[in-house]
Amino acid sequence: MSPPSLIDTHPNLSDAAPVALSYELFPPRSPAAAETLWTTIRELETTEPDYVSVTYGASGSNRDTAVQLINRLLLETTLRPLAHLTCVGNTPEELAGIIGQLLDTGVRGILALRGDRPQDGAPPVAGSLRYAQDLIELIRRVEQRRSALLCAGKIAVGVAAYPTRHPESPSEDHDVEVLLAKQRSGADFAITQVYFRAEQYADLLTRARRAGVTIPIIPGVMPFTSLRRVKRLGELSGVEPAPELVARLASADSDLERLRIGVSATVDLANAALDAGAPGIHLYTFNEHQSALDVLDKLALPRRSRTGSRREAVARPQLAS
Ligand code: FAD
Repeated sequence: MSPPSLIDTHPNLSDAAPVALSYELFPPRSPAAAETLWTTIRELETTEPDYVSVTYGASGSNRDTAVQLINRLLLETTLRPLAHLTCVGNTPEELAGIIGQLLDTGVRGILALRGDRPQDGAPPVAGSLRYAQDLIELIRRVEQRRSALLCAGKIAVGVAAYPTRHPESPSEDHDVEVLLAKQRSGADFAITQVYFRAEQYADLLTRARRAGVTIPIIPGVMPFTSLRRVKRLGELSGVEPAPELVARLASADSDLERLRIGVSATVDLANAALDAGAPGIHLYTFNEHQSALDVLDKLALPRRSRTGSRREAVARPQLAS
């Protein structure tokens, strides 16, 4: 019998792995929206997330506000930003410039995305990148050129994953092949598109692991507290909301009842993902904190504060359960 390896006997590694917590924010579109967003940011900061992701308009439509928000997060908060970056409609030269700008502000994590193609059916810009996979490879090339500046460290590169078929993809199996290709090109982790049924995340995890995908696949969970938003996001992402959830939200007697139904459905979905082996939860906040915090209160994620102690639940009005 071979002696136990250092890894087997290392005391810290026998503990259950900590569960990651992260939020998605988008750059504000007006001064009033910026004010609301900063209230949200301060509230979310109290929960000590591992990172907050900042979306990016396809073709760089909101590039300046995205970079400004990231810069301010780095300068004025304890939060670690994960910068979304899309490649559709941009040449490698333009994208290398943006990646350099992000690294100069202190960003060390990028979510590499293709972005949605323009709705008007315009042909792709000559020389622009085609797929997220191309962007990952470009990020790794920029990283190599700057390895001394990064102290030879790495940029954490995330990618999108799809529990339900991507609207342009021929099949869910093809989506997993694409995820595997993104891993081979240098992706470190994936965050999923919004989904509505517990089995959709569990199935993705099973199919991805079977195909050889080993990177963490973090479920992207949307608080189902607004019927309008559930429907809108379904349209935008091409993911059909679960009809029974829509019916329950629509028939709620009051806003408070709708909130209770939405939070409870979200917590069930997140708990099912954790049971299936999710390494963390990424909450789509829509720049509002209350629903995210309500979900978090009921989730009781096994997490530790930065001082090493178990976190105290933040006292706030509880929803009736
Ligand atoms: P890709 O991985 O490039 O896939 C796009 C399509 O091409 C898929 O159908 C895929 O099957 C196919 N494909 C990919 N590679 C190949 C290949 N080598 N050969 C053949 N076919 C291939 N959009 C934004 O504009 N801004 C954001 O900030 C943003 N954030 C997001 C965050 C998350 C967590 C998620 C899940 C999505 C986000 N999106 C965002 C939406 C995303 O840009 C769209 O879903 C887009 O349509 C696809 O992006 P992708 O990175 O998955 O592209």
